[in-house]
Amino acid sequence: MKKHTLSKSTFLRGIQCEKSLYLYKHFYNLKDKITPQQEAIFKQGSNVGVLAQDLFSGGIDASPESYFNFQQSVLDTILYLEEGETIIYEAAFQYDGVLAALDILVKEKDGWKAYEVKSSTEVKDTYINDAALQYYVITNSGIDLKDISIVYINNQYVKNGEIDINELFTIESVLDRVIEVLPKIPNQITAFKKVLQQDSIPDIDIGMHCFDPYSCDFIGTCWKHIPEYSVFDISNLYKTKKFELYKNGIISFDQIDLNNNNLNANQLLQVTSELNGDTFIDRENINEFLKSLTYPLYYLDFETINPGVPIYDQSRPYQQLVFQYSLHMQESIGGELTHFEYLAEADPNLDPRIDFVKQLVQDCGTSGDVLVYNIGFERGKLNDLMNQFLEYANQLSSIIARLKDLMVPFQQKWYYTPEMKGSYSIKYVLPALVPKLSYDNLAIKEGGMASNTFYQMVVGEFKGDIPKTRKDLLEYCKLDTYAMVRILEVLYKFK
Ligand code: SF4
Repeated sequence: MKKHTLSKSTFLRGIQCEKSLYLYKHFYNLKDKITPQQEAIFKQGSNVGVLAQDLFSGGIDASPESYFNFQQSVLDTILYLEEGETIIYEAAFQYDGVLAALDILVKEKDGWKAYEVKSSTEVKDTYINDAALQYYVITNSGIDLKDISIVYINNQYVKNGEIDINELFTIESVLDRVIEVLPKIPNQITAFKKVLQQDSIPDIDIGMHCFDPYSCDFIGTCWKHIPEYSVFDISNLYKTKKFELYKNGIISFDQIDLNNNNLNANQLLQVTSELNGDTFIDRENINEFLKSLTYPLYYLDFETINPGVPIYDQSRPYQQLVFQYSLHMQESIGGELTHFEYLAEADPNLDPRIDFVKQLVQDCGTSGDVLVYNIGFERGKLNDLMNQFLEYANQLSSIIARLKDLMVPFQQKWYYTPEMKGSYSIKYVLPALVPKLSYDNLAIKEGGMASNTFYQMVVGEFKGDIPKTRKDLLEYCKLDTYAMVRILEVLYKFK
């Protein structure tokens, strides 16, 4: 069997951007490297796909042995159909040079039905194009499909004992929506095949399509002409506005007309500060903020995991679950620091939240403010814990009442330096205020990495040195709260 020209994923690439399709097929080496975070998302997606197979148990698997040998899957699928199989996982079909592999094909009483599994919690518009291509290829391969559905995760499901997959997944027919877009499919296939035959890269400029529906993996190639810091980094400016500036030839800050633009006061501050190298300090508001702090002061930071398929009882899909915290305590301004920390055992049978709460309510004491960076996050997690562990509700609610947000002075631009690059995230504020303190030398450098690492340990996928990595996790989280201590120290200089 001749190798396919287009697959479902390259077809979807073509819909997003024909240049992306061309580059993927002819200049694959230009593709951006996959980050560990993306890899974790793919892995989670394929685990969900395998789990969903249990909705229709007893099927036969037509997966290829190698990613490069889908034609064998197509032949296997034909064979299984001839043999009278009624449930086929990863059923593959090829028609007119287009390959479509479907997660689950089932022959029910009223005929064949197709199920495509997604690890998301809703049916996204892009899934309709995906399903329409599958429907087109499968029906043209001689299968009379009666229905096609998306199987996705029900985020209201609460685990209680063994996973109940009928509750975990929602099945939604998309046949009507597929039929609507179906007439476009043959023309799109023809157009994309033509694109692939061109002898030069399609001349397509960067635009909104670079991020919609997915962030493209050729940004490293197509965005080379955009400087590292440009109009695309203006804080809180709509993407459409950024591209409007770009289309008018305005890329770097010095090209912006300072007297005639649609930027708000904070955005203008970012631009002028960059152009003039100015630092902006609003001492009055910083002072008010500092005066509002009550000692002993606790600096607190949480780390979380959010597994798509719940691991622990009384948790929902994608719920953010705390597994670690770091807490620095200071009795008085500039006083000595005492450090507390918690890191749960990475055990699927041991809910990390229980000991977390027990230790947190002790470590936080009963008086003084609890300083966090981005209050919405910690407050949200504490509220979840309060609802979950009613016996600690009073203590947790008093911690919530003591929360203060160190992000405010930076979010409000009471302190702004060009090095912050328009951001008030601690990852920008810290190097701007305390350049010597950096995450660069740590093995774990950011929250996503900490979360992935712990998740992998829990599900038994972690391959590294566990004792060392637990130390790395502790070190990372400790730096998060120590960074807050040092940032506050800098603010006190403007008192
Ligand atoms: S980065 Fe943008 S222009 Fe380049 S291939 Fe991707 S979507 Fe197309």
